Amino acid sequence: MQKKWKIFTSVYEIQKLYLPPEANEKPKRKHRTDMSCRFCGGVMPQVSFRSDPHVISKLFEMNYGISDFECDICNNYFSAEESHMAHFLGLKRPLDSIGQDKVPSFVSPGKVLTAKMFEVFPGQKAIEISDLQQQNFKFDPLSGKTDILCCHSKNSSRGI
Ligand SMILES: [Zn+2]
Repeated sequence: MQKKWKIFTSVYEIQKLYLPPEANEKPKRKHRTDMSCRFCGGVMPQVSFRSDPHVISKLFEMNYGISDFECDICNNYFSAEESHMAHFLGLKRPLDSIGQDKVPSFVSPGKVLTAKMFEVFPGQKAIEISDLQQQNFKFDPLSGKTDILCCHSKNSSRGI
């Protein structure tokens, strides 16, 4: 991870604020033959530029800040960190999306804890949370109260 961070910050300047373009001001991308990767320096046809590498990960909400300077290989190399971030955020993303049209699914390492949206009735959606170990939630049928308990896995230093 530290190696990736050094590579990443050697070509990206850390900014305090980045405002990605809105959908209606979606920037036009360079033609693929004019792109060169800022990490490996690759150009077509040695590397490809088919993916849409987001400047701000879509984990943090859909945005239109797309990089013109990351080849598919380098984008995939760094996208592995996004999976770690998704595990770190856990159920926060699906639970924060309640009431929205799209709810991101969540699958914990080992598939012990999952969350996904489903349609209860036409037009009525809910989030189904599956807890295979039954250690992450405590439901009190008398009070109707559900406690979300903190859990740790070897791949996550934070709970759900
Ligand atoms: Zn590259």
